[in-house]
Amino acid sequence: MILSSLWPHQCFLCGAAHEASAALCPRCWSALPPPARPACPRCGEASPLAGECRCCRQLEPVFDETVAAFAYRYPVDVLVRRLKYGGALQLAPLLASGLSQALAGREMPDLLVAMPLSPRRWRRRGYNQAHEIARRVAVHCGRPLEPALERLRDTPAQAGLTAVRRRDNLIGAFRCRSPVAGLRVALVDDVMTSGATLDAAARALKAAGACRVSAWVVARTPAPEF
Ligand SMILES: [Zn+2]
Ligand SMILES: [Zn+2]
Repeated sequence: MILSSLWPHQCFLCGAAHEASAALCPRCWSALPPPARPACPRCGEASPLAGECRCCRQLEPVFDETVAAFAYRYPVDVLVRRLKYGGALQLAPLLASGLSQALAGREMPDLLVAMPLSPRRWRRRGYNQAHEIARRVAVHCGRPLEPALERLRDTPAQAGLTAVRRRDNLIGAFRCRSPVAGLRVALVDDVMTSGATLDAAARALKAAGACRVSAWVVARTPAPEF
């Protein structure tokens, strides 16, 4: 009883008791895999000279930059999946704090937008993990979080498609419903894989007049085909 009040927190990964209120102990927290360095400034993919990568030069995604807190590898993949599918909402502050730290020294946008879920998926899950992260990052940045994007339909299965087909698959999946003309927007999501979904959402924001869209993600996976 006394011990549990002195050491009330158990690390989500290793189970060690620790003092801080975070979901991970300091040792597990500091061992989380960093994102690729040097990276393509546009998509966050590893790029030897930190210049725009070949995929971005070919496919020209409309988002202007990517900030990733971690590489999507163990144990970050476990944490993200547990938050997304396992209802482990206690992980949202931790992942949001990783993303907030990755933003140090960056120019802040005018507003943040969380990657929306389709109404069907939102009803089934009961929460949107991107929103749970974005609202905490918004507090850290001192900028508003706006529900500016609407997801009209789920993303169809993308695996095995070429980058161009993937992009075509997502046309019309998002609609912007807030005035964003002339504004700099940070689009927050948990993971960037191919970048096609973030690109489609960024297109909707740019079509509504957003002047700059940054992709802020907790984790980035390697994306050879994007
Ligand atoms: Zn630990
Ligand atoms: Zn790139």
